Amino acid sequence: MALHDSIGRTINYLRLSVTDRCNLRCRYCMPEDGIAKFTHGDILSYEELFRIARVAVSIGIDKIRITGGEPLVRKGIIPFLQQLAGIPGLEQLVLTTNGVLLEKMAPELRSSGVQRLNISLDSLNPETFRQISRCGDLKFVLAGIDAAKECGFPIKLNMVVMRGINDHELMDFVNLATTSAVTVRFIEYMPAIREHNWQRLVVPGAEILARLEQRFTLIPLEQAAMAGPARNFRIPGSHGSLGVITPVSHHFCSECNRIRVTASGLAKGCLFAGDQMDLKSALQSGSNQLLASALCAIVDTKPDRHHMCLEECHHQAFSMSSIGG
Ligand code: SAM
Ligand code: SF4
Ligand code: SF4
Repeated sequence: MALHDSIGRTINYLRLSVTDRCNLRCRYCMPEDGIAKFTHGDILSYEELFRIARVAVSIGIDKIRITGGEPLVRKGIIPFLQQLAGIPGLEQLVLTTNGVLLEKMAPELRSSGVQRLNISLDSLNPETFRQISRCGDLKFVLAGIDAAKECGFPIKLNMVVMRGINDHELMDFVNLATTSAVTVRFIEYMPAIREHNWQRLVVPGAEILARLEQRFTLIPLEQAAMAGPARNFRIPGSHGSLGVITPVSHHFCSECNRIRVTASGLAKGCLFAGDQMDLKSALQSGSNQLLASALCAIVDTKPDRHHMCLEECHHQAFSMSSIGG
């Protein structure tokens, strides 16, 4: 069964947030003075999250990404992932993490049925990493990445590139992709929190590529169908690959295949649109039919594109940790 939105895009991908809590406070994700947290009662139980996942798969979703906040800080995440991995028809179960708790958790994550990990890593310099994450210790993340590799996880490292903050490290990240079998993806900074003068931070994808091409030969990789928003490249002789994701300078909305559900049960058809649907009453009704209708309704609200650009953005400020970036 295939699910389509009002302009014919196939929607097969759910980003499911399991918590808004996090053990880091990245400057691009949360404002300096923090954000209001969901109360314990707002957060969906694992049983409710599982029902959403199962119903989503029944209407055409075949890929689920578990995200947050930091998904690995929620107690009981491993049995929940095992349960998700058993949903008939779910082809891909993947997870995004900041890596802080991975060293210990990688083996159980691997055996839970999670197939791939995206790990956020914005700097290879301990001091810069601490500045960006406001409190993080790089050595835990690096140990987590090593542990995940040892367990056999295919790994993508996501770096949010910010001018004057970490963009001088682009080549260090390329070296990671040339010397080990990881995919490094450079992501344009998005003005989610509408930080004052945010434009100064955005390094457009075209500039990132031009800077890389001064030093390396980049061979474009063929884009697999529904492969996601990255434009991918290989450097001759390298073990890994590179990708550039350009949500601001060159949006990829025409190929958007996703919906989101927050840890408090708000379904969203688009990260930057105001439309959302509270799934709690459908959950409380006990009717999977109602839940399916609510998810289909949110698919119908998907706009054809966002209207943010390098000059301006109009959305209401939000923290990626509360929506599940
Ligand atoms: N805590 C996990 C992590 O950091 O990987 C998962 C949740 S985090 C909200 C998901 C992704 O959103 C991360 O890769 C993060 O870098 C990205 N993200 C958050 N705010 C962003 C922003 N303003 N611009 C670009 N990417 C952002
Ligand atoms: Fe936490 Fe991820 Fe947001 Fe950083 S990007 S504050 S790790 S949720
Ligand atoms: Fe999809 Fe909205 Fe992101 Fe565009 S901005 S890719 S429509 S979620």
